[in-house]
Amino acid sequence: MNASALQDRVGRFLREPKRLLIGDKWLPAASEETIPVINPATEEVVATVASAGAPDVDRAVQAARRAFSSREWRRMAPDRREELIRKLADLVEQNADELAGLETIDNGMLFGFARDLNVMGAVGVLRYMSGWASKIEGSIRQVSVPIPDSQFFAFTAKEPVGVVAAILPWNVPVMLAAWKLGPALAAGCTIVLKPAEETPLATLRLAELVEEAGFPPGVVNVITGFGETAGHALVSHPGVDKVSFTGSVETGKLVNHSATDTLKRVTLELGGKSPILVLEDADVDAALEGSAGGIFMNAGQVCVAGSRMYAHRRIFDRVVEGLANGAKRLKVGPGSDPASQMGPLVSQQQQNRVLGLIRQGVRDGASLAAGGDRIGPKGFFVQPTVLVGLRNDMTVVQEEVFGPVITVQRFEDIDEVVVAANDTRYGLGAYVWSRDISKVHQIVPLLRAGTVWVNTPAIPHPALPTGGFKQSGFGRDLGRESLEHYLETKSVLIRVQ
Ligand code: NAD
Repeated sequence: MNASALQDRVGRFLREPKRLLIGDKWLPAASEETIPVINPATEEVVATVASAGAPDVDRAVQAARRAFSSREWRRMAPDRREELIRKLADLVEQNADELAGLETIDNGMLFGFARDLNVMGAVGVLRYMSGWASKIEGSIRQVSVPIPDSQFFAFTAKEPVGVVAAILPWNVPVMLAAWKLGPALAAGCTIVLKPAEETPLATLRLAELVEEAGFPPGVVNVITGFGETAGHALVSHPGVDKVSFTGSVETGKLVNHSATDTLKRVTLELGGKSPILVLEDADVDAALEGSAGGIFMNAGQVCVAGSRMYAHRRIFDRVVEGLANGAKRLKVGPGSDPASQMGPLVSQQQQNRVLGLIRQGVRDGASLAAGGDRIGPKGFFVQPTVLVGLRNDMTVVQEEVFGPVITVQRFEDIDEVVVAANDTRYGLGAYVWSRDISKVHQIVPLLRAGTVWVNTPAIPHPALPTGGFKQSGFGRDLGRESLEHYLETKSVLIRVQ
């Protein structure tokens, strides 16, 4: 699509009223309250969306519950569910430019990243997960029951867990929506999806595509609203069977608490502070390119971004120089400008948080090899930043920054670096750069992380489960494992004689 046609499409969508998709209706919030949506590159309000409260959440959960109990959805043949999910994937692909344009305005991300990774990533996940709809299976069990002359037939069946509340963060909204929709729909669940208050636009457009794909009303409901109100009401609602949450560790803990009263099934995909180990024998240029690409992609707002580098002392200076030069050269600007290589952060709050953590690092004794400040008077831009002179116990090394900030520390031997790599409360991802395959195999089992990438930056793949060890959460998105979280196991014992 050419630039002016895209602008027209996005402009038209922005001007339309933004409501909540509940069942087959688009409704304003019962309170009629709204939330402004801000373009992080310009700080302008580009739209307003409905601010759902507890009564709206209740309606959405009821719509999802009705759809779950409906004959049309519960008895739908698996290959029809597969077909509907594939149709949604096709529609997302056909509307990729518009969805990406909305993400750029809403989140600030580069248009290329928005389209090729975020939106097309969603398409890949929906296509992959659609196939599971027709491959859900139980098994026959041999049972020995001590009743004379009796005969039994026993089997297990997998059934959908029910109504799912899916809560999303703001960093890659369309892709993460697909991480929830794909397995939930493949399993036969119904869903109430809440995007983050900072980035609701593309998810609302996605909701229109869900309708166009032909899902029965109420199978997918989308509500926009604040976490403390709409989010809290959703995760504590007794009509919800399962909560699938992606967001920060602090909110994840609150969500887990709220879900406890009715013992909902919960999966939590939380933050990370992923270490990068660059061994003495690594291809240093590849490690630099992969690591800089990882931490500065989406302005560092990627849960699995490698943000804590440990470089062997023999290559440490070269690594710091390479990262700092790369950071200084990076062209930072609006995501809609094709010349930009990194966009703004999502919000002023995030900009302040990131700058605050950098300053605290410097106060604690770290030094800046590059960056460290905001850019320009308008927009939530932060310089790509490289910090050195660190200790592992500093807050900037321990805490997720979720911004374009990488710390670099030196190490001497492998045992020491593995201890340091594991020494945070997080366990989402880890990276190893080395040409020595036996060292790699020694290190990988010792790293307490849900995914380890070796000699490659993070490449999310629909077949590879993603999730955390330790306080990075529990459960997995993607892969066959994610499907399991949307299913219950039923055992059936039939006396046949
Ligand atoms: P956040 O925790 O502030 O918000 C996430 C969502 O939770 C939002 O929709 C928000 O409205 C909602 N929320 C807030 N309070 C709530 C409450 N009390 N009850 C229910 N819902 C509530 O996270 P964020 O700042 O939007 O996103 C950034 C975080 O997400 C980072 O920590 C990042 O690492 C993490 N993340 C993790 C993964 C993963 O796969 N592990 C992927 C992407 C992002």
